[in-house]
Order: sequence, then C-alpha cells, then structure tokens
Amino acid sequence: MTAIIKSVGNFCNLRCVYCFYSHLDQASFQKMEHGLLKKLIKDMGEVGIAKVTAIWHGGEPLLAGLDFYKLAIAEQKLYPDVQFENRLQTNATFLDERWVSFFKDNNFGIGVSLDGTKRIQDLQRPDRQGHSTFDKVVKNLELMQKLGLKFGLIQTITSKGLGFIRESQEFFYHTLGLRSWKINFVDESSCLINVVDDPTITISENNLLQAYDELIDFWMSTNDPSLEIEEIDQFVAAFLGRRPSSCNFSGSCGNYFCVDYNGLVYPCDRICFDDQHLLGDLREKSLLEIMTGDKAEKFRLKVRNVHPDCISCKWRPFCNNGCTAMHNKTGKYRHCEVRKKVFERICSMTASSQK
Ligand code: SF4
Ligand code: SF4
Repeated sequence: MTAIIKSVGNFCNLRCVYCFYSHLDQASFQKMEHGLLKKLIKDMGEVGIAKVTAIWHGGEPLLAGLDFYKLAIAEQKLYPDVQFENRLQTNATFLDERWVSFFKDNNFGIGVSLDGTKRIQDLQRPDRQGHSTFDKVVKNLELMQKLGLKFGLIQTITSKGLGFIRESQEFFYHTLGLRSWKINFVDESSCLINVVDDPTITISENNLLQAYDELIDFWMSTNDPSLEIEEIDQFVAAFLGRRPSSCNFSGSCGNYFCVDYNGLVYPCDRICFDDQHLLGDLREKSLLEIMTGDKAEKFRLKVRNVHPDCISCKWRPFCNNGCTAMHNKTGKYRHCEVRKKVFERICSMTASSQK
C-alpha cells in the first residue's frame, strides 16, 4: 500500500509553468494538523499490511517544517510490526544540513525536481517572485552528495524543453555525475486540466515520439549499463523479463491513494481535483473503511477493466493501458500509439544487438 501525502496541500514557494495545481490556491498556507497526521499514521499502522509506503508530496512538503516529519516518524515507531518506508519529493530549495541529517538518519528516499541546465530550469521552475532556483538546487544536491544522502532526480519535459533534451541528459550524466533519473513528460493528458491544449507547454504526440528517440539515442551513446533513465528502463524491462516498476506501466494503479492536507482521500495526486473521484474523508472514517469502501472498489474495477483494444495487444503485460489519469474518454491510454512505437524500437535494437 502506498500513500501519497500532501502535507501542505498545494502550498508552494515555486511557480513551475506546468504545475497541475497552478489553477488552485498555491499561496495560502495549508498544513495537515498534527491530530490528523497521527490518525493517518495510526490508520496506516492498523490497516493490516506488513509494509506501507508514505510518499510525502506537495506543494513543497518541506514547508510543513522538520517537527512535522519528526512527529510522523515517532508515530510510525508505535507500530514495530509494520515496515514504514518514507519517500519525499522536494524542489530542494529549503534543504540544509538539519534536513539532510534527518533524512539520512531515518532512511528517507529523496526525490529532487530539477529540469536540466540553468536555462531550462529558469524557463520552467522559477520561484514565486519569478527568480531563478537553479543555483540553490544544485548547491543542495552537492550538500546531499557531500553528506552521503542518496537521492533521485525527476526531470519534467515540456514543449519548452524539447530543444534541450540532449543538453539536459549530458548535464545530469557528465556534470552532476548521476546514473539514475526519472522523466515526466507534460503531454496532452486529462490530468493536466489547467495546461492541456497549451502548445507552449504540452507536448504533441509527434514530438513525444521524437523526445523518446532522443532519450534512447543518449542512453545508447553512453554504452553504460549502470545508467538508468526510468522512463526508458520501463521499456527495456520488458525485454529483460522484468516487470515494469512504474505504476503507469505495471498496472498497479489502484494500490495507491492520496491524502490531502485536510484529510480528503483520492486515488492519486493526479486524480484529486473533483468530488467524482473523492474516496472519503479521513476525519470521518478510518483508512481501512475508505480503502475497502464502494468508491475505492469502483475505482479499482475501472482501472482493472481491460480495454477492448488492449486484449490482444502483445505489449499489454508491459504497458497495462498506461496511466489512468491519461486515459481518453473511451478509457484507453492516450499515447498508446507512441508507446507501441517505442516498444518496437527498443525491440529491434535489442534484437540487432543480439545478432
Ligand atoms: S500499447 Fe496500447 S493497446 Fe497495447 S496495452 Fe498499451 S494501451 Fe493497450
Ligand atoms: S493515476 Fe497514473 S500516476 Fe496515479 S497511480 Fe494511477 S497510473 Fe500511477
């Protein structure tokens, strides 16, 4: 079971051009109350599952303050039979030695959002006043490296960044010395309701295919088996007999839930915008009641229902109809055709390398 916890709701000090909360209030201070945090951890501890994962998300989750996470860890320790895994996704602008030591001591998996070199980061991830965040983020990546805290990186590629794909990959690999990062494309998806159809941000189908090609070309050019670009690795996994790990390939959507700062529970932080997808209110019910309730069951049935086009598709075990938030009106993954072409390309590359 994996909980995406929006400890400060949509509250954030940055104003990323592609943020899917930018049509909502991001300036007012919101924070999960300590009483609700304790109830959430109690419910997770008592749900009857041996391993639960908490992904602390935002807005910017560090704005909740260090005491908030110290309390979360103290509450988790009340359930020694449950293995809690903590991950946190941050813009890294507030990190300092205190935070880094805390994350290291408590085995947090840290994900940092950085979109590439300074000119790409400045185009896409300015702060609330429009100032650059690049130097601060890179300085804090160096701090984590110096203090021995492992982290992952997430890069978001919009149509603004299409001309800089190679540059950003070189930067991560050669300048920062990273060997693993994740990529999110801002494509024409239903979850990005505020930016959809904005061609200055969303990537069209044709450009998406080209972006994959550029990533594959870079990945091949390194000839480095230790390099893992997660988005490409999901395709490669299929040919190595590995199950894809990412929810938008593995068909594991439905095992996740998202708790907003005010206790409202949704299936995912990409599906948390309307009452139609509201699963329940943690202030009124237990997590177990919500997760076994009719609405959650209905959502699981919906995502596990195989789309007619997928039934005979050879890529189905490795694709599973993509991300639910990116389904079209018929319930099919919007970028099915792109995905098929990328699978074919990886397949032919693998075949020719085995000759
Ligand atoms: S590639 Fe297309 S048809 Fe095949 S499983 Fe994925 S979404 Fe379904
Ligand atoms: S909606 Fe998409 S991102 Fe969210 S859990 Fe489902 S597959 Fe994953």
